[in-house]
Amino acid sequence: MRVSAMPDHYDLVILGAGPGGYVAALRAAQLGMKVACVDKDRNLGGTCLNVGCIPSKAMLDSSELYYLAKNRFGRHGIQVGGVELDLPRMLARKAEIVKSLNDGVAFLFKRNKVTFVHGTARLLGKGMVRVEGERPAELEAAAILLATGSEPAALPFLPFDGNQVVSSTEALSFTRVPEHLIVVGGGYIGLELGSVWRRLGSKVTVLEFLPKILPANDAEVALILHKHLVKQGLDVHTSTKVTAADRKGGKVTLQAEKEGKKVSFEADKVLVSVGRRPCSANLGLETAGVRLEERTGKVVVSGTFETTAPGVYAIGDLIAGPMLAHKASEEGIAVAEHLAGKGGHVNYAALPSVIYTHPELAAVGLTEEQARETGRACKVGKCPFAASGRAKCLDDTEGLVKVVTDAETDRVLGVHILGPRASDLLAEAVLALEFRATAEDIARTCHSHPSLSEAVGEAARAAWSVAPAVVRRFSPPEKR
Ligand SMILES: Cc1cc2nc3c(=O)[nH]c(=O)nc-3n(C[C@H](O)[C@H](O)[C@H](O)COP(=O)(O)OP(=O)(O)OC[C@H]3O[C@@H](n4cnc5c(N)ncnc54)[C@H](O)[C@@H]3O)c2cc1C
Repeated sequence: MRVSAMPDHYDLVILGAGPGGYVAALRAAQLGMKVACVDKDRNLGGTCLNVGCIPSKAMLDSSELYYLAKNRFGRHGIQVGGVELDLPRMLARKAEIVKSLNDGVAFLFKRNKVTFVHGTARLLGKGMVRVEGERPAELEAAAILLATGSEPAALPFLPFDGNQVVSSTEALSFTRVPEHLIVVGGGYIGLELGSVWRRLGSKVTVLEFLPKILPANDAEVALILHKHLVKQGLDVHTSTKVTAADRKGGKVTLQAEKEGKKVSFEADKVLVSVGRRPCSANLGLETAGVRLEERTGKVVVSGTFETTAPGVYAIGDLIAGPMLAHKASEEGIAVAEHLAGKGGHVNYAALPSVIYTHPELAAVGLTEEQARETGRACKVGKCPFAASGRAKCLDDTEGLVKVVTDAETDRVLGVHILGPRASDLLAEAVLALEFRATAEDIARTCHSHPSLSEAVGEAARAAWSVAPAVVRRFSPPEKR
């Protein structure tokens, strides 16, 4: 391998061009730093853009339209006989969206003078990064940011084969609709992709080890979603532990234990969606003195995202916290601003999360259970979408908005929206948490009519503690 004699010097070298790395690169460049971003994939955007958020939402939106055209258009008085699935076109549309966004990131790099280096990177210690690939290079950096993300975790007795036993990456691109798809794992990725193939015609069985799906979500709201998924035809088995697998004659048979009984399931495809593990191996972390959490393999960082090696930072799926694209981006911006002396930070208490099933489940802040566990008195206000004029016009009335508040101060602690366009409706709730708003603040905010957002206002009104609100108006403002 030939490496150029003099290493190129940068203020910041970033390993990984996912939503953590590329957003950090752009922010750092805008703040005046000389930045290089290395990725082993030429298609910029990481997991999110190439095999995660974007292609999964493209398939969810297309499959939803197919389902609606087949099953619901008639209710609007639109007769469309002979609706047919053109899966190659659907997959091509998904690829076109991904490509246009890849090109968008490349354009932003160029415009902001971020140097993209294609190759596999690892740390050499003392501010040096080695890049291996077509054009090997050594980069010298005042600061290094690790943003190498995560990859699907396999089960030991059920390794991926890329064809019958697959990860989310392959399940985004099946070239034929599986007859029977088993999804091992009732988390958001499994439920989203299970929904896609169910709408396109597969029999879908979900096997979840825990007693409920989506255990991190508000229990009441997650249970309502569970019931809707079952109504849509997903066969969901909770408290079911898959223990062994056998592949024969084009089929996979899974052995499992469900409530003390042995059960088995046979399918032509199995999606293993049991979590993701950080890409922290082969990065030269030991050489550089970067410590990992023993159990998870995640990089240990300080409050400013600095690792145990001074000058080396880490963000995104590689460190603790929920594996979400916007969390990675927020952390990337915070590191860039910290390096520029601007004291960037991330407010994890106002970090939204969305499950893009139908209905969508979007949440921010504490669940009702978490709020009660804090020992404070809580209030809960709800508004079902069945009461929303706009939801009725859309023929999409499933779900509700649930607002959890502190009964004493009326402060909004959490908002959980299950319903149409919940992902977009949640923005108001995120802002409310960011500004430490009360339920009264949301209830008194004028919501346009008829709109889905009225349900957010009504749920807040239901949670609003009127008496303390009057007291509060004459009290000094709460310290922020
Ligand atoms: C199917 C699916 C759906 C998802 N949907 C959502 C969603 O709707 N919303 C959401 O918020 N999140 C979603 N996610 C999660 C989201 O994709 C991740 O949280 C996010 O991409 C993490 O960003 P990151 O920058 O930390 O890492 P990544 O996006 O994983 O990027 C890491 C980059 O580092 C590169 N890299 C790794 N090692 C090296 C090396 N040694 N040298 C050079 N380059 C390297 C990789 O090639 C990759 O490009 C989804 C994930 C999946 C799989």
